Amino acid sequence: MLLTLTTSYSPATDLGYLLHKNPARLQSVEVAGGVAHVFYPEATAERCTAALLLDLDPVGLVRGRGGASGEGFALEQYVNDRPYVASSFLSAALSKAFGTAMNGTCKDRPNLPAQALPLEVKVAVVSAPGPDWPRRLFEPLGYEVEIETTLLDPTVPEWGDSRYYTLHLRHEGLRLQDVLTHLYVLLPVLDNDKHYYIGENEAEKLLHRGGEWLPQHPERGFITRRYLRYLAGIVNPTLLRLMEGDEVEEAPLEAVPDETEKAVVPASDQTVAAESAEPKLSLHDQRLQQVAHEIYQLGPKRVLDLGCGEGKLLRLLLRQHKIEFILGMDVSHQALSRAAQRLHLDEMPPRQRTRIELIQGSLLYRDERLAGFDAAALVEVIEHLDENRLAALEAVVFGQARPAHVFVTTPNADYNQLFDKLNAGDFRHDDHRFEWTRAEFAAWAAGVAEWHGYQVRIVAMGEEVEGVGPPSQMAVFESGRTIFIEKN
Ligand code: SAH
Repeated sequence: MLLTLTTSYSPATDLGYLLHKNPARLQSVEVAGGVAHVFYPEATAERCTAALLLDLDPVGLVRGRGGASGEGFALEQYVNDRPYVASSFLSAALSKAFGTAMNGTCKDRPNLPAQALPLEVKVAVVSAPGPDWPRRLFEPLGYEVEIETTLLDPTVPEWGDSRYYTLHLRHEGLRLQDVLTHLYVLLPVLDNDKHYYIGENEAEKLLHRGGEWLPQHPERGFITRRYLRYLAGIVNPTLLRLMEGDEVEEAPLEAVPDETEKAVVPASDQTVAAESAEPKLSLHDQRLQQVAHEIYQLGPKRVLDLGCGEGKLLRLLLRQHKIEFILGMDVSHQALSRAAQRLHLDEMPPRQRTRIELIQGSLLYRDERLAGFDAAALVEVIEHLDENRLAALEAVVFGQARPAHVFVTTPNADYNQLFDKLNAGDFRHDDHRFEWTRAEFAAWAAGVAEWHGYQVRIVAMGEEVEGVGPPSQMAVFESGRTIFIEKN
């Protein structure tokens, strides 16, 4: 299995720095199922080609599979296309051999990874469900795609073409990191065979690598469905559900605890966590993903995050390329500087930097800066205000700022009885001024909607438990005014 990457960037040998592989040397790394060799068939200032030759050991593959003897035809274990076709093995090899480049890091030339390069990729051989599929997967990402077909058997031309193709991709200017990431995700999707060695980490990486571009890809349904074949049962089901719903949002989870909710895992959840080895998304991360997903489905151009805290939602929103401008507001200066830090605002490329602004302000006071937005999120904010101040917040958000859509989330107090360590009447967080039952929240939301001319629906957040409902709840308000909607 051979993959080559060629650039005519000047000097082309910078490719060696980017890949962290010296053009003068042959380097080999052990990978799942065999060995990957990296070498450079050409390396001049005008043109440089790096080759990754993946040498899979077919017998080793059989031994590694265990219990697979009943599958396929009698000799399939020994006679199969795995060593010759770009598959998930190639993804694993790309990740192992070029992991640093894939993460966009280059110690020797720190500015190089951000550089868009003219690139050509040749993959011999891909197996695809049909000759149009390489195009459908790679063209939306800006590649010029060419495939070479071969006859299944040159001595029997009437049998037609084989389902194996040589794939040529060309791009006029793309970061190497992006090219590697696209290949990493899309080659196994084209191949669609079983993934013999996928481990939990590999699976999480697969999801993570699609995060930036998959939500916009017109074939994301096909891509994610094919993933699910491999990944069901391996990775977090919440992530999979989000992917199925056409979006991948979250980067690998951080170890920072969000709210005390993380410390008070309900008894039922503890059982689930103990029973499965799956990493669990915290309740808060689930909420943020869900809000981000709802916003994504609307396709708004200007979005407010009110009470943005440390900027977790902002980070998810930044990945939605259709959003042109995001304004994060919080009353706490400390939270805002933490958000600026976490989002690396001071290192952001200028175009990206113009998409986001953080401001200090209070939701209790009229503020001109909040006007002219398509959507606003208030994630776990209202319960931090005294209940008798909510009317002021309503006037600011629904009366003055009036975004076409408003998403308000808050804990569901009915659910609190499931938290072992929470005494009756206690709140989940020290700074919560109230926590509402489902009925209280629904009544508040209906009142606000009626007063300010919005429609409202209540959405469950997190898994619903009979009798007490979901851990959190969200009201989605929609004004009569239509907003920009563009869906693929
Ligand atoms: N939305 C964030 C943070 C939730 S915590 C998240 O989901 O991660 C609540 C946030 O609301 C805190 O950052 C707090 O500083 C902010 N907040 C509290 N009162 C506020 C007010 N009057 N105006 C604006 N923000 C406020």
